Amino acid sequence: MEALFGGSFDPVHVGHLAAAEAAGEALDARVRFLPAREQPFKRAAHGATPEQRAEMLDLAIAGNPRLAVERIELTLPTPSYTVRTLRALAEREPGNRFSLLLGADAAADLPAWYQVDALPDLADVIVFARPGAAPPRHRAIRRVVTVPAIDVSATLIRERVRQARSIRYLVPDAVREYIAARGLYRE
Ligand code: ATP
Repeated sequence: MEALFGGSFDPVHVGHLAAAEAAGEALDARVRFLPAREQPFKRAAHGATPEQRAEMLDLAIAGNPRLAVERIELTLPTPSYTVRTLRALAEREPGNRFSLLLGADAAADLPAWYQVDALPDLADVIVFARPGAAPPRHRAIRRVVTVPAIDVSATLIRERVRQARSIRYLVPDAVREYIAARGLYRE
């Protein structure tokens, strides 16, 4: 069993990484980060390109055998609907059962998801709390796991870069260097 952790990752930060590591440990599973090509609830709001967001994930997970990057949504039509992604993965990897990791704020959107009723057949939905958001209740949620609470968001990272403030220790060094070298998020 492997877990998928979807999101914009614009950019990936220590909150994502600590949550993925702890949830993967709790589930005894490897975790694949699943960057969205276009997040349905954040259309046109992305600051970095899909490939840049995936490259930052590659840098962030380097050296951790538990974590991987799944690029399948980069090749699928937009918006990146999770049920569509899970069907594409089932076709590519028949017989593989996935857990789908969701932070509490993302899980709160479940009622509005495209074809949410198909979700439980396609994956086990696992939710964890995020500072400011307790896990919601939804019939598709299989399990709640505990992860360290780290109150960082990609919005905060982008704001700090725009204001020329430090993001050291909020993202891995390699991600910070990538953002600086490409001038991302400066507007
Ligand atoms: P933005 O600030 O741009 O909205 P974000 O930091 O919320 O971005 P996303 O890429 O939208 O990051 O999040 C992907 C997934 O990671 C979601 O399920 C979200 O709940 C979870 N997540 C994001 N930040 C944290 C955090 N600090 N702790 C735990 N989970 C998090």
